[in-house]
Amino acid sequence: MTHHATRTLQELGYRLTPQRTLVWDVLREHGSHASAEDVCSKVQEQFPHINISTVYRTLELLVELDLVRETHLGPTRRFFEVEEEIPHHHLVCDKCGGVTHVHDEDLGDLGPLLRQKQGFAVREVTVFGLCETCRDDTEGDEGCTSPTDL
Ligand SMILES: [Zn+2]
Ligand SMILES: [Zn+2]
Repeated sequence: MTHHATRTLQELGYRLTPQRTLVWDVLREHGSHASAEDVCSKVQEQFPHINISTVYRTLELLVELDLVRETHLGPTRRFFEVEEEIPHHHLVCDKCGGVTHVHDEDLGDLGPLLRQKQGFAVREVTVFGLCETCRDDTEGDEGCTSPTDL
């Protein structure tokens, strides 16, 4: 099975090493956000000698080709995912690290408002907070503290 990326890489004159193809395959099979370390350990199952810098270089190449999108989900979390046609934004849970996708319509007037007020064109929004599950947990914990404990 060949994805259009295989052709693109060849047309652009990149040497299509099996390692490079595998990085792309791993990311597509992963189906969501993967760190370079995640990709690296998967690729190492078939190419034990591949190192993290090769994986980073390949991912960066795929980003340049607009096949992969790099997403920053916090200061230390650098993730890669297969580029989708529709732009999307991320909700990141502080507690469990879960990531949810939302689209432009979920942002309501935020985009137009920022453009109008700040002259800023929004490309991507990342929101940090608590997901539904973690929020329920937190609210449950609070319920256990009665005023007499103070
Ligand atoms: Zn959570
Ligand atoms: Zn995403």
